Amino acid sequence: MKLFKGRVISFKDDSRAVDLPHGHILVDDNGKIIEVGQGTLPSGEFEEFDFSDYLIFPGFFDIHVHLPQFDERARWGKNLLEWLEHYIFPAESRFAREDVARDTARRFFDSLVRNGTTTAVVYSSAHRHATEIAFEEANKKGIRALIGQVLMDRNAPFEMLVTPEKAKKDIEAVASQWHGYDNRLFYVVTPRFAVSCSMELMKAAAEVAKANGLYIQSHLSEQIPEIEYVRELFPEHPHYTGVYQDAGLLGEKTIMAHAIHLSDEERKILADTGTKIAHCPSSNFFLHSGRMDMKSIEDAGLVVGLGSDVAGGPFINMLQVLTDVYYANRMSPIKAFYHLTLGGAKALGWDSFLGTIEPGKEADFTIVDPSSLISPDSELTDVLAKLMFLGDDRNIVATFVRGKRIWQRR
Ligand SMILES: [Zn+2]
Repeated sequence: MKLFKGRVISFKDDSRAVDLPHGHILVDDNGKIIEVGQGTLPSGEFEEFDFSDYLIFPGFFDIHVHLPQFDERARWGKNLLEWLEHYIFPAESRFAREDVARDTARRFFDSLVRNGTTTAVVYSSAHRHATEIAFEEANKKGIRALIGQVLMDRNAPFEMLVTPEKAKKDIEAVASQWHGYDNRLFYVVTPRFAVSCSMELMKAAAEVAKANGLYIQSHLSEQIPEIEYVRELFPEHPHYTGVYQDAGLLGEKTIMAHAIHLSDEERKILADTGTKIAHCPSSNFFLHSGRMDMKSIEDAGLVVGLGSDVAGGPFINMLQVLTDVYYANRMSPIKAFYHLTLGGAKALGWDSFLGTIEPGKEADFTIVDPSSLISPDSELTDVLAKLMFLGDDRNIVATFVRGKRIWQRR
């Protein structure tokens, strides 16, 4: 059994937090939370983690991030389609090389856990082998991750294209080894977006996902020129969302990123199919894509988690992304942290065992030291606001997945 001591902070919903100064958490040997309390400590022999001067949050979720773009952060000055062509496709092509794939995956997952992220939903490159390497490195690091080989069969460099048949084979081979591994690593089928995928490829992706119980992720309605291009490519479809609906890609296990320029009808289709939204405001501002209007997304009843969208977004640190969450929708700190934790868990359908700190859930924690910004004993909203606007990797002390320490500052 493990005993964690610290100020325990967790979120019930988008307006209510649980805040336990001088709190404690008892975790069993399987990494499950047995008890959460305050004041009198439980008696017995425990392995003790004393974070008395720090805050214990549920582990942070980054539900949209691109591994092979890790070194392409800060590539400024272009719109989405130009940026892909000039910087991103050449960078992702290099993942045909095993040494590039291995070295980048190592640094990428190391950076995620140093920045407090305990669950990441990850786009790999177009290469099966690089995707296997990503799983291996995620496994070594101990992080929770959903990873998928990016699928394209047009409008990208020839060497990055895949046929529907080969895509199915690649996915089944990697998923059979990694989907559900340690109940911590999962396969997410990843057609990049409708611009670079034919209907045939998207249908094949949806079929292989459904047949094997895999997750699905893609990009939806990020930028106006992209949307116009999709309209040209699929003239028979009423809108962008209709393309994915027709392909069979929407559903409870699907995460669509951005969802900025949508009609009410499209939002309704997403809600009716149970599709989840990855809100990536840092990327939306960096690439000048526009602003996702949270109110219309919420009015439609859609579930929202947060994504860094590195390298569309420059920040791998989710506290820095929270600043942009405010700029996009003037969101309160409690609500922003809710989306970072429980919202992320809900987006994956994992809120029965993750996203909050309470008995019965798994012990994924992000330990935070706010003392460079504010006294750790300060009123909760003030603490959260300082972290939301001024926090970064220097405030992250340690990360735990299922009670196991996967990183700690020295
Ligand atoms: Zn993206």
